Amino acid sequence: MSEATVREDLLSWIELRTLGGLEPIRSSVLNNDFISGGVRFTLQSQQGIIRPQGFRAPLTITTVYRPPGRKTPYEDGEITGSGLFAYRYQGEDPNSYQNVALRQAFKDKIPLVWLRGIAKGEYMAVSPIWIAFDEPENLRVLFAPRLDTPLGRFEESSGPDSLSPSERRYRSRQVMQRVHQPYFRQEVLRAYRDECAICSLRLRPLLDAAHVIPDVEEDGFPVVPNGVSLCKIHHAAFDSNIIGIDPKYRVHVSQKILNEIDGPMLKHGIQEADGRTLALPRSKAKQPDPDRLEVRWSRFIAAQAG
Ligand SMILES: [Zn+2]
Repeated sequence: MSEATVREDLLSWIELRTLGGLEPIRSSVLNNDFISGGVRFTLQSQQGIIRPQGFRAPLTITTVYRPPGRKTPYEDGEITGSGLFAYRYQGEDPNSYQNVALRQAFKDKIPLVWLRGIAKGEYMAVSPIWIAFDEPENLRVLFAPRLDTPLGRFEESSGPDSLSPSERRYRSRQVMQRVHQPYFRQEVLRAYRDECAICSLRLRPLLDAAHVIPDVEEDGFPVVPNGVSLCKIHHAAFDSNIIGIDPKYRVHVSQKILNEIDGPMLKHGIQEADGRTLALPRSKAKQPDPDRLEVRWSRFIAAQAG
């Protein structure tokens, strides 16, 4: 069994177990369920870097969960606007067993899995990631989630400061999709107890975190007050102004659609939603922000006139 085979197995296993990074994964699963070539591998530890005996590079790196407001000097975080994340070496010695592996992953462009703690014993997997820069002088590496551009671009850059504005924008966009989006979905679905706020559907694979202010816009932050848990149908209906939500959380179906006659999906799925009130999170702080809804609602109104 080669290291490369184990790594390939791991990337497919993570992909399957997390539905492509969309669903969280527990440490009990990470440490018991992954078997490659007949060998069981531990994938997560509080130490951070998992390097199995004899491997050149780590399999995973972990950022442990910290309750909100608790700061530590070893913050692993995003370098604003660059699409890159900093990951601290383990300890102060750049040539320790674990750190050498981390730096080897940089030299050989070996894909790793980043486990990002979101609650006690619970992680979002960002996979694969690539170490883009090694900074022994700062005792850290910088990494990025999978990019759809040739990796060679990294070699042309001498550091994150050398990224062009368009590279930064591109990377930020990728980070949004690969890192923040799954986390946003997780937080929104949790707030809505895994239900569509319009029809109460509880099939998690069919649920999305819809943005009130779309994420392509500057104010479209991936935060719970800018989200609503909606099933795929209601999400698409909301995004195409078939359904509008007013600032008092009432659902409106476009008059044009109300006049149409079609099968049971239109009747029960869409038309009967007209006049309903969203099923909201109990906590006020997690409900959609009325100011954001107002902005979105005015677009729905404008679309009806058109
Ligand atoms: Zn629904």
